[in-house]
Parts: sequence; structure tokens; C-alpha cells
Amino acid sequence: PASSSAGPSSTAQSQALFARAQAVTPGGVNSPVRAFKSVGGVPRFIASAHGAYLTDADGTRYIDYIGSWGPMILGHDHPAVREAIGTALNGGTSFGAPSAREVELAELVTRLTGTDKVRFTSSGTEATMSALRLARGFTGRKFIVKFRGNYHGHADGLLVEAGSGLMTNADGPLGAAAPSSAGVPQEYAGLTLVTEYNDPAALDALIAARGHEIAAVIFEPVVGNAGVLIPTPNFLAALHRVKASGALLIADEVMTGFRLSLNGATGLLGLEPDLSCWGKIIGGGLPVGAYGGRAEIMEFVSPQGPVYQAGTLSGNPLAMAAGLATLSALEADPDIYARLDVYTARLAAGLKDAAAAAGVAISVNHIGSMLTAFHQDAPHGSVSTYTQAAGSDTAGFAAWFQGMLARGIYWAPSQFESIFVSAAHTDTELAATLDAAHAAYAAGQA
Ligand code: PLP
Repeated sequence: PASSSAGPSSTAQSQALFARAQAVTPGGVNSPVRAFKSVGGVPRFIASAHGAYLTDADGTRYIDYIGSWGPMILGHDHPAVREAIGTALNGGTSFGAPSAREVELAELVTRLTGTDKVRFTSSGTEATMSALRLARGFTGRKFIVKFRGNYHGHADGLLVEAGSGLMTNADGPLGAAAPSSAGVPQEYAGLTLVTEYNDPAALDALIAARGHEIAAVIFEPVVGNAGVLIPTPNFLAALHRVKASGALLIADEVMTGFRLSLNGATGLLGLEPDLSCWGKIIGGGLPVGAYGGRAEIMEFVSPQGPVYQAGTLSGNPLAMAAGLATLSALEADPDIYARLDVYTARLAAGLKDAAAAAGVAISVNHIGSMLTAFHQDAPHGSVSTYTQAAGSDTAGFAAWFQGMLARGIYWAPSQFESIFVSAAHTDTELAATLDAAHAAYAAGQA
């Protein structure tokens, strides 16, 4: 089990690997938030993962609340997923030609999500980027709308006020867009209009002013990338009103797809998007993304239609096998989402108690198996915009994160992320997590 006290586990191997990595890779990591920049300390280099646990290069075990940033809803190294990958492996690793598993996964995804057609990519970034190209090709319009603090991967036009590792304090007039990354020309960013999440009046105003030029409104149906933000019913209604302008509604379900229900946030919240994007769980821990929607729109994608999109490894047999095994296991377990809800609700309640006992102000948002405890003094459930989330005490969060890590709990290393509970998390892990949380909040006050 994870250590329950804040004993000094060695990080010598992680430190040595991090030093080597920094010599040959920018910042020593292949995706920025892994570097622990916003929480400090040594990023743990992971040697293996099983069930709800990660083991680092120094042999320290952690209860994992990242789940590879979402994919591992069944827990790590799930037997059915491992077996499916093994079977696929025996047949070769990549064909560059169509194969049966792609058809099976497409049939399963369209059935579970009620979409007509899907196209597989190798990442969520490619899925959203391709869905936007498709929306532009379909509508013949060039502007897109996104929401402040929503993250849709790192395509140029989407790195605009993009949340997560990119959270800044940039603010501007209605629709004006500031790139969140160097290297994104203002001309690209200028095609992306930005407005506030959960502000139906602002969205209505933007659509009234510019709706005729807008190809698509892309949104996280439940935000994970500014920390968890839950859409209000009025905001969902405003999103649906967008359709009257002829702009397509693109639900980015890369994080929420197959996590909040078998039909993602769309199923849970009664959304009716024109296009949806998936990633993470759809590949069961291997690189897969997808986008899909109504046939009349999807038929614009090449080779059927004029919108080009391709991929050397798209539909990769190992990745399809992992996705098929994961989605099949989710579908075969009718109680799984209820169990994830119960665990997460108990985790939320326990965190609230632990923080209150230590006199630390937190504001917890949770839905399904996603949760963020914002370090700020606001009623639980009341943080609903990027601006509110950004008001959190990031130093307080960082100290608490380190306290948790020292006690064997691997929380997301940023205040502005969701954590992910998996089906492998049991009462044992819950109790250990809450023990650690009590101590970590108390230590923060000492
Ligand atoms: N969209 C959302 C909502 C995401 O959370 C992410 C990644 O975290 C992406 C898109 C990009 O997916 P990927 O990292 O697979 O490119």
C-alpha cells in the first residue's frame, strides 16, 4: 500500500532521470504539465502501473488520480485490455490498410453515442483540429468560437485562451482572441473568437453579432481543463440556440466521452451536438482520437468529400483493440458509472471535511468521476467560470499537492485540472486518500 505517513521516500532515480531528460528533451518531458512546474519538486518517473497504483523509478507506490489524464477508467493494466492488445500484437502492429477492428470500433462508438459516422485519428488534438476543418468545409465560414479556459488540444487556432497549463490572466473585449502560445500568428488566433463559459448572455450576444460568419462553436461539455466547471442549464440552452445561426455545435468529449456515461456528457446532459470529438478512453490507454456526427456532415470528409484528413497510424490495430476492449468492458458493467459516482462523491465529502477540520478554504466541484478542489473560499459547487477558477490559491494548492505526494497520493499536479477516479479505486484507496488529505491540509496550516 501507499505509505500513510509523510516519510521521506527517495526520489534519487527520478531526479537522475529528470536530469538526463532535461539534457535531451525540452523541460525534460514530452507534455508540459508532467514537469510539475506549477507545483514544484521532482516529477516522478513512472516505472509501472497496475490497477489504481503507480510505481515510480525509486520503487515508491502511489494511489493514482490522474489515470494517464483520463484514459484509464478501468484502472491500469486491466486484464481484458492487456489480453486484447496481446492478441492484436500477434497479428502485426500496423498495416496502413483497413482492418476489421476499425469497423468494429466504429460500429461500437456510433451505437453508444448515437452518431452516424466516425473517423479515427491518433490523438484528441487531431480530432478537434479535423472537426474544425470539417465544420469550415461544411459551412463555408471561417471563424470559430471557443470558451475561455477550455482546452481542445494544441492545434494553432485552438491555442487561444486555452486553460490548463496555459492559464493566463489575459482578458479582452468580446470575441477578441489572444494566443496562449508563442508561435501562433495573430492571424490564426484572429479567426478564433473567445467568450466566457457559463455566460449565456455573452454567447447570445456574440452569435447575434457574428453568427453568420461562424463555422462552429467548440466547447468542453463539462470543463476539465480549467479545473472541473459544470455547465448551467441556461448555458446549455444558449449553446443549443447557436444552431439557429447555421454554426455547427462541436462537443469536445475527449475528456468526458465514455467517462461521464457511455454517451459521455452528451448522454448525461441531454446535448445535441452536430459533431463530437473523442480521445483518451476511446483508445483504452493507446493513442486514439475520433470525431463524428451526422452523415450529411461526415460525408464531407475525404475520400468521400472535399475536406482532407489522414493519418499513417490512424486505426492502428493495437490501439483499436485497446479501445474495443475498454468500451466493451464499460458496456458490460451496467453499474460502473454509479460506482464511480459514489466513490467520487465520498471523496468530495471527505475532502470537504478534511479541509474544514484544518481551517483550509476549498470549493469542490465534482461530476461523475471528475473532481477539482479549488483552493478558494467559495461555496462548494459555485465555481463555474474560468475567471472564478483562476482566483484560486495556487501556492496553497501546490503545498497540499506536495503533502499528498509525500503521503503516497498522486493528485493532478495543477490546480486547474480534474482528477480522474477509476473502477480500480476501492474503499481501501478512499480511506488512504482521505487520511492523507487530513494530514496534508493540516500540515498546510502549521
Ligand atoms: N480536448 C480535451 C477536452 C482535452 O482534455 C484534451 C487533452 O487533454 C484534448 C482535447 C487533446 O487531446 P490529446 O492530448 O490526445 O491531443
